[in-house]
Amino acid sequence: MQGAGGIWSRMAPARLVAAVDEIDVEELWEAGYRGIILDIDNTIAPWHGSEPVAAAEEWVERAKHRGFRVCLVSNARAARIRSFAARLGVGHVEAGRKPGRRPFLEAQKLLGLPPSQIVVVGDQLLTDVWGARRLGFQALLVDPISPREFLATRLARRLEALVLRQLARRRLVRPEAEARRRRRVFSDGSQEGEK
Ligand SMILES: [Mg+2]
Repeated sequence: MQGAGGIWSRMAPARLVAAVDEIDVEELWEAGYRGIILDIDNTIAPWHGSEPVAAAEEWVERAKHRGFRVCLVSNARAARIRSFAARLGVGHVEAGRKPGRRPFLEAQKLLGLPPSQIVVVGDQLLTDVWGARRLGFQALLVDPISPREFLATRLARRLEALVLRQLARRRLVRPEAEARRRRRVFSDGSQEGEK
């Protein structure tokens, strides 16, 4: 079918990483990126956590220090997003919900950068990565910090797993990274038992 490969590549993150602090900010900078749109839940903090994990907070500091403009985009409640933004000293948007276009476009406006210089970092393929790629932003998919999450997210994970499997088959993501995610190994050290 014409364009089928295109559909898969539009779903694909540039890379699957185990945690945000595994992302080399220097490498991102050298690749030409200048802005980071960052998810909160299960990307920099455990679900419902009131503060970022130390390694993620340090990583945001490194990114800012390197010169990156950072903006939080999250489907969490506005007060919670604001509290994270204040603590990290970064921008945030409160409009719309991922994977809708609006929060990403607002973030782009805030960053003041073209799509080609923006990378979205998040833990969900169907909100963070899909939302980013359809607007021409690059995306990096991190493994979730902990197995705790919304019921709706847990259901979405099943579809996400199917898509990731296809991406790994097509070598659009590294099969080892897909397998790690399939084993549901979390960066807080826990591992979910097989059902
Ligand atoms: Mg998330």
